[in-house]
Amino acid sequence: MKTDTKLAHAGRDPASFHGFVNPPVVHASTVLFPDVETMRPGGQKFTYARRGNPTTDSLEQAVKELEGAEGVLLANSGLNAVSLAILSCVKSGDHILITDTAYHPTRHFADTVLPKFGVEVDYYDPALGAEIATLFKPNTCAVFTEAPGSLTFDMQDIPAIADAAHKVGAIVLMDNTWATPLFCQPISFGVDLSIQAGTKYIVGHSDAMLGTIAASERAWDELHTLHGAIGSHVAPDDVYLGLRGLRTLSVRLERHQHNTFAVLGWLKDQSRVAQIRYPGFDTDPGHEIWRRDFSGASGLCAFDFAAGTSREQANTFLNALKLFGLGYSWGGFESLAIPVKLKGSRSVTPIDESLCSVRLHIGLEDPEDLINDLNQALDKAFG
Ligand SMILES: *Cc1c(COP(=O)(O)O)cnc(C)c1O
Repeated sequence: MKTDTKLAHAGRDPASFHGFVNPPVVHASTVLFPDVETMRPGGQKFTYARRGNPTTDSLEQAVKELEGAEGVLLANSGLNAVSLAILSCVKSGDHILITDTAYHPTRHFADTVLPKFGVEVDYYDPALGAEIATLFKPNTCAVFTEAPGSLTFDMQDIPAIADAAHKVGAIVLMDNTWATPLFCQPISFGVDLSIQAGTKYIVGHSDAMLGTIAASERAWDELHTLHGAIGSHVAPDDVYLGLRGLRTLSVRLERHQHNTFAVLGWLKDQSRVAQIRYPGFDTDPGHEIWRRDFSGASGLCAFDFAAGTSREQANTFLNALKLFGLGYSWGGFESLAIPVKLKGSRSVTPIDESLCSVRLHIGLEDPEDLINDLNQALDKAFG
């Protein structure tokens, strides 16, 4: 089955719910058993709502088909998906390598929680590829990748990293939120734990928090055990919003991509704009890897103002925007902008911290209106 067909049909079985197209939103804790014998392990599919119900099952099955995974589990936010995935593959005395361009709260988790449990954390330059092997220690158990990287959109050679990691028996994780399983299929090129902040494009409407973790055969048992032991559970209304968002993911992403190319095509020619950070652009340093490993580009990108632009001018630009909201997160139908704080965001790769950079999420508005909005804001900031 092709992806669009999977999106329409995966994870639902109308015949088992009186023919209704969508599965019910099951509000539950207790599940009843017909007799004591059935209460034994394996006696019936659902045993207690913390372990899943027909609503969570639908979304897990749908994402499993899209990711080509051995199994999928849900988390109550993208960050919760990141932390559960990492916890499932480390133990005291282990060493984990994390990309220097990881989403900042991922670094915060790694720096504050992992050392408390005796897990050693090092960051690596995303440009490394197969040479990441030079950073391996005898106790390296996992490599955490993210592409494109947060804020600076650096690509990395994940198939090469995965090959190197597997040679020493390490698990490979990837935060694949930017591309979603529609534009990138990490498990197909060796990733063991593919993470989505479902809050972004899967939910797609800025109205719920969600995370998904898809596991390869090698990583599934540990993930399943850890997830059950921790007691993570997502409320059924939020799971339903994820399921509902998923049905239109393909058409939304296609339009996000179209609008982003339109807006950036204009933005790159503006005199105050020095650099566009978007691997879909053929001028981007990560473009070749993007073309090889991804089948599309989503709506999140950044640009740097020309040298000499003050933070004050950049702030005037941001404050003047009318259609772009100022706010964290992204992946909804609406356009957003934030100032990028590069200072202190990297520990092993050099970065010009004096750059004035802005992150944009290009939404589903008409790109001509978005361009007009950016244009009037540039006028206000620079005259
Ligand atoms: C937003 C985001 C997350 C975290 O998702 P939340 O649902 O906000 O916790 C993780 N990774 C990336 C790349 C993100 O952009």
